[in-house]
Amino acid sequence: MKLAHRVEPGATVQLADLDPDAKARFDGKDDARAEKQLAADLGRLGELQERLYSEQQRAVLVVLQAMDTAGKDGVLRKVVGPLDNRGVQVVSFKAPNAEELAHDYLWRAHARTPRRGDMTFFNRSHYEDVLVVRVLGLKPKAVWKKRFDHIVAFERMLGDEGTRVVKIFLHISKDEQKRRLEERLDEPDKRWKFDVHDLEMRRRWDDFMAAYAEVFARTSTAEAPWWVVLANRKWYRDLCVARILVELLEEMAPKYPAIAVDPKKVVIPD
Ligand code: AMP
Ligand code: MG
Repeated sequence: MKLAHRVEPGATVQLADLDPDAKARFDGKDDARAEKQLAADLGRLGELQERLYSEQQRAVLVVLQAMDTAGKDGVLRKVVGPLDNRGVQVVSFKAPNAEELAHDYLWRAHARTPRRGDMTFFNRSHYEDVLVVRVLGLKPKAVWKKRFDHIVAFERMLGDEGTRVVKIFLHISKDEQKRRLEERLDEPDKRWKFDVHDLEMRRRWDDFMAAYAEVFARTSTAEAPWWVVLANRKWYRDLCVARILVELLEEMAPKYPAIAVDPKKVVIPD
């Protein structure tokens, strides 16, 4: 069953045509089939991740991008949180610091890509350098427009060297973002998440959607595809992300390595 939307290389995605409220064949949050599928996928994901780690051969880089409140942290908590800490990292990219700004924009991303055996999740990424940088005009067009090609080449290199790259955009509607921002203000235990800076970004919603559309058209490749996850419903979002990751790892088919000792010949001393 098709849950999320994979962007075919060179294809144009009309975000406006994708309904962020999607829930596929499920009734809703309490649909037992959805709960069952998520539980099964999370279990399988844990098993596959352990195999990947045991192999110590290949790596996986998952890029998470989204507008504010779309649920990057929710995905990290619900889907990534249950994984074994061994071999799993989460890296959050904020506005670059002085040291980062003194280097090229890919430097900080490359420094945090996974080791062989590991799965690394980027909470924001090098894509901010063609998104927020473009929308806020932090660099001239002559600078950022060259970056699509750099990024494709960078990710191709990672793939050639054993790191599978998958990119996920959590797509919420502008109305849903309004509800979530209001909720942050209304609920005392969520107020700390409210950032007035997010309102500035919200005002530029359409510019961000246009910038994302160009990112998908220019950087979704067969080896490092973009997925659009319809994310107004948190339970459906988690289900889709888990499915994408399980399918990716099933395709990689990691196996426990042969061990150097014959278990029948080893005697554990008393
Ligand atoms: P948060 O939403 O709390 O993760 O905030 C991170 C902020 O850092 C976001 O507003 C991003 O737009 C910003 N940010 C991340 N990467 C960059 C970048 N390369 N240049 C400028 N701002 C960035
Ligand atoms: Mg924020």
